[in-house]
Amino acid sequence: MKLTPQNMNRIRKLVDAMYRDRIVMHTFWTIVLTCAVIVTGVMITHLVSARYAVLPMEPTVPIAFGCAIEPFGFTPRWGAMKSDAELARNFCEISPTEFIQPPLYDIDTLQFPLADLNDEGVSADVQDMITSKLFYSTRHFGLYNLDSGEYVANTHPGIDFKMPKGTPVSAIAGGRVNRVMREDGGLGNAVIVEHILPRTQERIFSVYGHLDMILVQEGLIVKPGHIIGIVGDSGDARGSHLHLQIDRDRGLLRHQPYVPARDTPLEETAKWTVHPMEFIEQY
Ligand SMILES: [Zn+2]
Repeated sequence: MKLTPQNMNRIRKLVDAMYRDRIVMHTFWTIVLTCAVIVTGVMITHLVSARYAVLPMEPTVPIAFGCAIEPFGFTPRWGAMKSDAELARNFCEISPTEFIQPPLYDIDTLQFPLADLNDEGVSADVQDMITSKLFYSTRHFGLYNLDSGEYVANTHPGIDFKMPKGTPVSAIAGGRVNRVMREDGGLGNAVIVEHILPRTQERIFSVYGHLDMILVQEGLIVKPGHIIGIVGDSGDARGSHLHLQIDRDRGLLRHQPYVPARDTPLEETAKWTVHPMEFIEQY
């Protein structure tokens, strides 16, 4: 199923069902873990002298890259919302008619001062520009303000998409889930997908941070558009959003998201991380 405004009713039902499933799964995993502890105890008693070899997770089937797509096929019309309460709604509380196709990533629009737009009133164009600025809320190596450009600070190697809590997140291309992370700080609940680029065979990683729920396991092969998780605000996040980052291979079996040191020059950071929107456009 495609993540488009036309499919909104089906997507909402799916998300509702997933939140219900979470409660069932909590109970299920408690039982499974209890059984696992008992079984492990029995195994250790019986097989204490046996030798174990841990098999590395290597791909057994070729990973098709497909073509790169955006992580969302829609955005709420943020610019049309008036109150903080409206802006703070979760995915299922927003009416399907309030969603539109994602705006183009246009850096001139993104840098247009928000204060000037707020002064201009409520024309459809102004609402669209505000939607765009909020949707792409933090730019590639941008500052944490809605008027920031790109490559002005080395603290943010990726793009933040402001999206309501509970929104499904798509894999941006075909690949294999390299790592699932659950951290208290940083990117919180995060999924890392490994991609092999067509033609060059370069190994690239897409990183999806601050998820509310992770819906894939390490090793899973995904196609472009596979729903890998649900938007949240886990880790160091102010408000629910998706942090999307595209990293180059630093030779690690389990990829660690690239975080430049405070004094790393911006030219240096470009070696290890790629502009997500340019990447999606190129591939
Ligand atoms: Zn971010």
